Amino acid sequence: MRAYERFLKYVVINTRSDDMTGRTPSSEGQFDLARLLVEEMHQIGIEDAYVDDKCYVYGSIPATSGYEEVPCVMFCAHLDTAAFNAENVRPQLVENYNGEEIPLGKSGKVLSPKKFPDLKELVGQTLIVTDGTTLLGADDKAGIAEIMTMAETVIREKLPHGRLAFSFPPDEEICAGAKDLDLEKLGADVGYTVDGGKVGMVQYENFNAALVQISIQGFGVHPGSAKDVMVNALLVANELNNMLPSGDIPRNTTGYEGFFHVTKWNGTPDECTMEYIIRDHDRALFEARKKCIMHIAELLNDRYGKDTVKITITDEYFNMADVIKEHYELIEYAVQAVRMAGEKEIIKPIRGGTDGCQLSFRGLPCPDIGTGVYGHHGPFEHITVEALDKVTEILLNVVRLFAEHK
Ligand SMILES: [Zn+2]
Repeated sequence: MRAYERFLKYVVINTRSDDMTGRTPSSEGQFDLARLLVEEMHQIGIEDAYVDDKCYVYGSIPATSGYEEVPCVMFCAHLDTAAFNAENVRPQLVENYNGEEIPLGKSGKVLSPKKFPDLKELVGQTLIVTDGTTLLGADDKAGIAEIMTMAETVIREKLPHGRLAFSFPPDEEICAGAKDLDLEKLGADVGYTVDGGKVGMVQYENFNAALVQISIQGFGVHPGSAKDVMVNALLVANELNNMLPSGDIPRNTTGYEGFFHVTKWNGTPDECTMEYIIRDHDRALFEARKKCIMHIAELLNDRYGKDTVKITITDEYFNMADVIKEHYELIEYAVQAVRMAGEKEIIKPIRGGTDGCQLSFRGLPCPDIGTGVYGHHGPFEHITVEALDKVTEILLNVVRLFAEHK
């Protein structure tokens, strides 16, 4: 079966995660996909495949005789999709793409090369797009389809290999993905996530990330007699936001540039709550950003009274580059695998996190290989049939390279 055929089967299952349930998995649909995968894994010969009660799919292929010393490589892709409508995904195939705008079903939305210049590189290929009402779910069902097709090929063609491990965790999009992955059961030495990014993408530097939760207590009196007494929590919140470096927001930053991003802002003059996320690849700059917002809170407390602003900062994840640099062969093999497939490697910092960064800090070094997806997390998400084949080939090359270097 070709990767895109699997892909089309997976995307129609709604696996949108939900950060409000507090459960793992956060949505039942993820179990539907997990059970389908386990069945398919059994069919292709991954005999030990199973899904646990938290919806983590595990499986492995034992090493070919004589290759037991080759490090065990894990391949990982997440089951869930991002916070956008995923009910009734109806993928549309556009054969021999002509480089023009594509109307997305009857939604009135148009996938345009003006907004997505990468489309120009995909002329002649078979595009898979949405009908404009849902996301596509290529993040990360493309990764799953590529891994499954690689595994099937390894078994069918009897390619020599070390032990291979597979994991499909739930809830990556709500930052819970790698949390309950049982590394002992998995038994891998190193790994790759196959998640997001163009064909040829090899990524191992992600953001350091923190969540900032702020509550502001106002002091309410009648507005007519408020002079020098009232503290309006909404205005204090506004002041706080204005004291942050205004250029350092997602809209204005790229590459290695970090930011503050306000994600919630609710309240009344009496009380107000805000949330920010802080992101920076550089650990020292990341710490400085945390200090900066703490300092602003202190200044406002000096101005309006102790405990007007209460602030809690929680580290979410760290840049895995520090771990991966000790295992740089992972990057070298991935780059070589890309070149063997006739593509050019693209090494760019990740402006986000992956399951791999959590896993790297838990002792399983785990950079990322791109799936070939574009425009993810919304109705403009697209990928090509050819990209799905190509990434499958890249993964096969990774398996070959590890086996050759035994
Ligand atoms: Zn993803």
